[in-house]
Amino acid sequence: MPEIAIIGSGLAGLTAAVTLSSKGFKVHLFEGSKKGGGRAGSFPFTPTHPLDNSQKEYQLDNGQHIMMGCYHETLSLLREISAIDKISIQDKMEVKVIGNNQKSYMLKSGSMPYPLSLLQALMGYDLLNFREKLSAVKFVNQLKSLEINSLDRLTVKEWLDQNGQTGALSTGLWEILCIGTLNTSPDKASASIFARILKIVFLGGKVNSKIVVPAVNLSSLFVEPAIRFIRSRGGIIEFSTPVNMINSTNSSSFELISRDQSIGNFPDVIFAVPHHALKKINGIEQHLPSIPNRELEYSSITTFHLFLKINPLKDDFLALTGSPVQWVFNHGDYITTVTSSSSNWDKMSESDILKIIVSELKKYLNLNEAEVYDYKMVKEKRATFVCGGENLKHRVGCCTENPGLFFAGDWTDTGLPATIEGAVLSGRTAARKIIQKYS
Ligand SMILES: Cc1cc2nc3c(=O)[nH]c(=O)nc-3n(C[C@H](O)[C@H](O)[C@H](O)COP(=O)(O)OP(=O)(O)OC[C@H]3O[C@@H](n4cnc5c(N)ncnc54)[C@H](O)[C@@H]3O)c2cc1C
Repeated sequence: MPEIAIIGSGLAGLTAAVTLSSKGFKVHLFEGSKKGGGRAGSFPFTPTHPLDNSQKEYQLDNGQHIMMGCYHETLSLLREISAIDKISIQDKMEVKVIGNNQKSYMLKSGSMPYPLSLLQALMGYDLLNFREKLSAVKFVNQLKSLEINSLDRLTVKEWLDQNGQTGALSTGLWEILCIGTLNTSPDKASASIFARILKIVFLGGKVNSKIVVPAVNLSSLFVEPAIRFIRSRGGIIEFSTPVNMINSTNSSSFELISRDQSIGNFPDVIFAVPHHALKKINGIEQHLPSIPNRELEYSSITTFHLFLKINPLKDDFLALTGSPVQWVFNHGDYITTVTSSSSNWDKMSESDILKIIVSELKKYLNLNEAEVYDYKMVKEKRATFVCGGENLKHRVGCCTENPGLFFAGDWTDTGLPATIEGAVLSGRTAARKIIQKYS
């Protein structure tokens, strides 16, 4: 079996390496940074507790990640790397939504058989009045016969407006889902991709709508088990090895260069790096003329990990409606806030953003600022690409004109937004193409 080079050890690269290793291919993974996981990685943080000055190291995630039962490729990857027991899957879809009056509203599957259970969820969601609930049910119902391509030119906002999904229906329901799944505000997000997600979640079987959250940090969930899996099958992983250049040494092999040094020749190479990183690799254009020349537009996500003297939260996670803090996750000693589509904060100082976060937590959850004894902010300006408009035209497929070169990564054309599932699917797809080529 030939040795396959994979560039990038984010979830796309790790998945490609796991998939190929499991079929007997030897993989050689090159990662530019010191550790794996890319945007879905973890890092150490050691706050000092004010009561007794004790210090404890935590592994914090680069960003809180939430998954769903419809992440079928991701769940199958977790089974393959023996990490499926490190997630928590709901028995049925259940989300507690807090309004700015501190009242809580449940969006919860009912006891009737699927799909009626999901209609029960909408009818029991008291943030909406009766007329709005009926309108939401009608909107979901029409998804069955919806021709998704007919939405190609629409934004989510335009589509919702056309279907009377305005007011509380928009802010208290669809906006939460749109920003949560596409990390893009409804006025920019693609209606067709959002409709595809709604179809998968609402019409794809009852498992699909369940919320899945990591029970451990992302490194323990994905990165370490994947690395163990790859190494146990003879795969090589080299960290701190950024690939800066690709040379065609002959028609059937590629030479990879890192910091002016050759790091090997390979018949097949998967680039599993973000679009902005790919564009910096010398020599890539001549092999891949279809690479778009412009930069993709990105959307940021701002995460705060707040360490609390006393944590009053009882729920594992909560959604906040009408707040820049869209989600709050409870990790016991600390809570994590998520603000997706946060590009308007990109130029704001950390302390100014913290003030907003703390005042929102006070308003929605009655959480006192004095309880916060330490915090860590992670502002990911290029968390995901903006899932709409011109950006979508520049997503490319996994195969290139050259039979030995492949792309993977959440930005490639998976039909999904930039998510864990998109990244994992892209890695699987690239690996399957190579497996097919040699079978
Ligand atoms: C804060 C945040 C929150 C998120 N929340 C969610 C969520 O709740 N649910 C969800 O499904 N998704 C979420 N996502 C999206 C998800 O994390 C990404 O879609 C996914 O991790 C992307 O994986 P990837 O492998 O495509 O890219 P990346 O993770 O970016 O991996 C690319 C890797 O390539 C390496 N690299 C780059 N250039 C080179 C080079 N020249 N040579 C060698 N290596 C190189 C990088 O160092 C990196 O390790 C979130 C993302 C962020 C940032």
